[in-house]
Amino acid sequence: DIYTISFVGRPNVGKSSLFNKLSEDGMNKALTDRMPGLTRDRKEQITTILGYPLRLVDTAGVEKLPKDPHRFKPTQIKQKMMDQTVQALIYSDLTLFVLDARQGITARDKELAKWLKRRLLQDKSEENVKKMNENATDLDKDIFIKKLILLANKADNETIIEDSNIMNDVYKLGLGDPLFVSAHQGDGLIDLLRIIDDEV
Ligand code: GDP
Ligand code: MG
Repeated sequence: DIYTISFVGRPNVGKSSLFNKLSEDGMNKALTDRMPGLTRDRKEQITTILGYPLRLVDTAGVEKLPKDPHRFKPTQIKQKMMDQTVQALIYSDLTLFVLDARQGITARDKELAKWLKRRLLQDKSEENVKKMNENATDLDKDIFIKKLILLANKADNETIIEDSNIMNDVYKLGLGDPLFVSAHQGDGLIDLLRIIDDEV
């Protein structure tokens, strides 16, 4: 099946921006919303990168953005975002966990990292899969993250990278070192493509 890459992360880190940048058609439907973090749908785009067809999946957000976002309780919004993320992860070959290099690592990032780490399939043995499902909730049973890469987005220039707290705090996530990227400048994306090239 077609190699699928999904973008996950808390709102406003730049998932949709990266999705757009990596999609062939810059004018695709995953428009960056004016309201931070509230992407309307899970968006998919089939694109060709380095000659391979890839499916990119942008996640997070409320399916149908209400005119008045206050109609949704924060917990409901969170639940909806979680549902979408979970769905995207089900069929992802590669998960890109996006952080904000300027803001550093937040409590929300840690929360998400903790969950992602729990579903990271270290080895595919039957025994391990069984163990992972025993520890699962209804929501994340049978969901396994095959491969995860951390992206520290908004690294638009060297100063931001130097000033970023990311490298001091990222070990707390226990998911390896991040790749610094900039959706706006395109920096770091070639390195990301090289990693994807090795994986596909
Ligand atoms: P999402 O909620 O994770 O999908 O984030 P968006 O893609 O909607 O971006 C949230 C905000 O961050 C928008 O105002 C973007 O313009 C901004 N943003 C995204 N990527 C970058 C980047 O590489 N550099 C800077 N400076 N801002 C970015
Ligand atoms: Mg978005």
